[in-house]
Amino acid sequence: MHELSICGAIADIATRRAGERRVESVHVRIGQLRQVVPDTLTYCWELVVADSELDGAVLDVEQVPARIECRDCGRTGEIGDVPVFACHVCNSVEVSVIAGEEFVITALDLAAV
Ligand SMILES: [Zn+2]
Repeated sequence: MHELSICGAIADIATRRAGERRVESVHVRIGQLRQVVPDTLTYCWELVVADSELDGAVLDVEQVPARIECRDCGRTGEIGDVPVFACHVCNSVEVSVIAGEEFVITALDLAAV
């Protein structure tokens, strides 16, 4: 499953960064175009971290809406729930994706030693 491998990757990074300290929460930012369902991601996270060093750590998912910029009229906008890669203003399909492909760990909350 897609979400399961993403959680594995997040867990690896969090474990390495935390060193000896216990991780309380991991904050991630994921773009809409990553095709990740946040609820599925947090569910998979619990499976991945169970009985590991990260057991009990909370995964905080922030989803970023996809945005496009029109190369014809210069307008920007969110593409909405159904991804349509066309300008809302002039209907041009000459658009660039300017947000929505993110997949970053933005912060780790570590327990005080
Ligand atoms: Zn346009």
